[in-house]
Amino acid sequence: MSNLKVPKATAKRLPIYYRYLRFLHDAGKERVSSTELSAAVKVDSATIRRDFSYFGALGKRGYGYDVEDLMNFFSKTLKQDRLTNVALIGVGNLGHALLNYNFHQSNNMRISAAFDINKEIVGTILSGVPVYPMSEMVEQLRLQQIEVVILTVPTEVAQETTNDLAEAGVKGIMNFTPIRISVPKSIRVQNVDLTNELQTLIYFLDHYNTDKDKDKKDEE
Ligand code: ATP
Repeated sequence: MSNLKVPKATAKRLPIYYRYLRFLHDAGKERVSSTELSAAVKVDSATIRRDFSYFGALGKRGYGYDVEDLMNFFSKTLKQDRLTNVALIGVGNLGHALLNYNFHQSNNMRISAAFDINKEIVGTILSGVPVYPMSEMVEQLRLQQIEVVILTVPTEVAQETTNDLAEAGVKGIMNFTPIRISVPKSIRVQNVDLTNELQTLIYFLDHYNTDKDKDKKDEE
């Protein structure tokens, strides 16, 4: 099931569904209809039904979805049923903020190792996470079976660091640097450019400030 390929747009919605199902489960709710789910996660119910259909018939007509079953199912699909260790490379302002944050909303992913060249922080523990020298990166990634890395190094060294990560056998990179890094086919990159996002938001406020435009944008 975990090898099942679903459209990217569907894959992106899975964490949203999962988060809401956990919320319902924690609140003691046993079942949910696609209409309720739709209102809560702001995805239309036809899309929800289509998304879920990729995983087989998960709902029952007239009953809706069993919250616990569905939550467990997505938990497995998103690999949240076991702990995923993640590494962070470059403990500057942004890197440190992410160490502090450390995905506490999720019980099942955490940054377990950080790497940097700065002698002042190497060998220390920041926000509960040990900071290793870059020379120990390959070994630590292997020991801790880390396949996913968050990249918060300066732009100038982003590509060379990526090359080292590729050699170390990393499978996924969450790239917070503003450059588009080149990677071999075996690596998936998720770009998170905060400056870009904020600029885009400001641009939209200036150029598309009617509700009608907003509706149009949401449909795109
Ligand atoms: P930001 O606010 O973007 O996080 P910053 O201004 O705090 O950055 P940067 O100069 O962008 O700091 O560096 C981010 C971190 O990356 C620093 O802790 C720095 O020591 C580290 N760093 C710099 N070069 C490398 C490298 N080649 N490999 C690993 N870490 C590096």
